[in-house]
Amino acid sequence: MLTLKFGGTSVGNADAIAQTVAVIAKTKKQDPSVAVVTSAMSGVTDMLVNSARAAANGQQQPFLDARDALYEKHMQAAQALIEDKKSLEQYERHVEELVRFFARLCGSIHVLGELTPRGLDVVSGLGERLSAPLLAAALQAQGVDATWIDATEIIVTDEQFGEATPIIAPTCERVQARLKPLIAAGVIPIVTGFVGATESGVPTTLGRGGSDFSAAILGACLGADEIQIWTDVNGILTADPRIVPEARTLRQLSYNEAAELAYFGAKVIHPKTMLPAVERKIPIRILNTFHPDGPSTVITSEPQKNGLVKAISAIRNLTLINVEGRGMMGVPGIAARTFRAVADVKANVLMISQASSEQSICFVVPQNRSDLVQQALKHEFERELSLHDIDRIYPVDDVAIIAVVGAGMRGTPGIAGRLFSALGEVHVNVIALAQGSSESNISMVVDRQDLESAVRAIHQAFFQNTRIPTPQLVS
Ligand code: ADP
Ligand code: ASP
Ligand code: MG
Repeated sequence: MLTLKFGGTSVGNADAIAQTVAVIAKTKKQDPSVAVVTSAMSGVTDMLVNSARAAANGQQQPFLDARDALYEKHMQAAQALIEDKKSLEQYERHVEELVRFFARLCGSIHVLGELTPRGLDVVSGLGERLSAPLLAAALQAQGVDATWIDATEIIVTDEQFGEATPIIAPTCERVQARLKPLIAAGVIPIVTGFVGATESGVPTTLGRGGSDFSAAILGACLGADEIQIWTDVNGILTADPRIVPEARTLRQLSYNEAAELAYFGAKVIHPKTMLPAVERKIPIRILNTFHPDGPSTVITSEPQKNGLVKAISAIRNLTLINVEGRGMMGVPGIAARTFRAVADVKANVLMISQASSEQSICFVVPQNRSDLVQQALKHEFERELSLHDIDRIYPVDDVAIIAVVGAGMRGTPGIAGRLFSALGEVHVNVIALAQGSSESNISMVVDRQDLESAVRAIHQAFFQNTRIPTPQLVS
């Protein structure tokens, strides 16, 4: 039993979908029990989200344009892939209905002048409801029996719109009841990624990039032998190939290493994907749809000690917030109050660093939460600020975190030294630093402008220098 997930580029146009169909057909020959999860066509989710936001800001044109563009994009692919007139017409009716629904929703958002997280989830989840029936029809057209399933029927989540958490027991019950009979009958279910619904049926989404997570949830519920994430790169590489073209495929990673990399920006896999797989020890494999026999990465529970640093990841659009003051020394509860205030405004703290003198705490939050966080802190520490126990609460905007990840770093001296000499050589200033308690991660805050040169310099120092042991790689 295999669960396959195809990302936006793998269903981005007719050629890509034809390639995806070929991968699925070949897989089915090797293992007849297959379930598929698909993302929206590339660019579609962004288009939906941006149109809804513009509508809330009083602009109608973006959603009117998006309605036409969505229709065009999907029908153009459909015409190239679906020969049978009846199924093409059936798909066209579905597209028409959904784009009309989309325009109506955006019309209401425009009238109200407000976009709630709940409303946004209804809009942003439409992309997968357009792509899944297209992929199913394209498979049918090639003689592979497939049917599309709306995940709002099977993935049950809580009500945290925009970043909902699946509730495993009812989800597995529904997944098994709905998908197992299809799979047993030789039909491939093509399930919409990214979306779910609350117990009472209100649509939710699992967070951007969440289709990987959807696949892992289904894989766990179905007891899959492997969860395969099909994307546009040869697995997980030593760094983002858009920054380091020389980056190479990592053959094997542990769940923990993959989660750390993903958490710190390696977009190739959603950080939550590992959660459902860990307990059942289901391997997750990352492969390239456009190079199916090329190198791939497998993520398993086995810790790999060979090599020191496995990979480098980076995350942008962050702000470093500093809370500083001599009066903070030895005062209990400052850290607790700081992070309670931050949690109250629902800001995710990506990294924390405290000076050993206890005179300052700094931490990193997404830039779009920075103002809210500062307000909350100034309110929380009004008294301390007026007494000058806390001197300053201030932001450093436009920073990035670079994370260096590898279980083999544990207990190996000299890594930090090598890291800083590499950065020193390219004149990159490290603004703050933290080492994960697992010792398999060192993360650094640098100026946004230094991000690319810093990642390249670290990559050069650890992977392009033959004197240093490197992890198992394939080029
Ligand atoms: P999909 O649409 O298939 O889900 P994504 O765009 O979400 O694909 O993720 C794939 C992209 O992740 C790659 O094109 C690559 O630019 C980026 N990426 C970032 N870090 C890494 C890494 N360490 N290894 C591979 N790809 C990475
Ligand atoms: N389509 C969704 C997004 O763009 C989910 C995904 O691609 O994984 O975020
Ligand atoms: Mg993705």
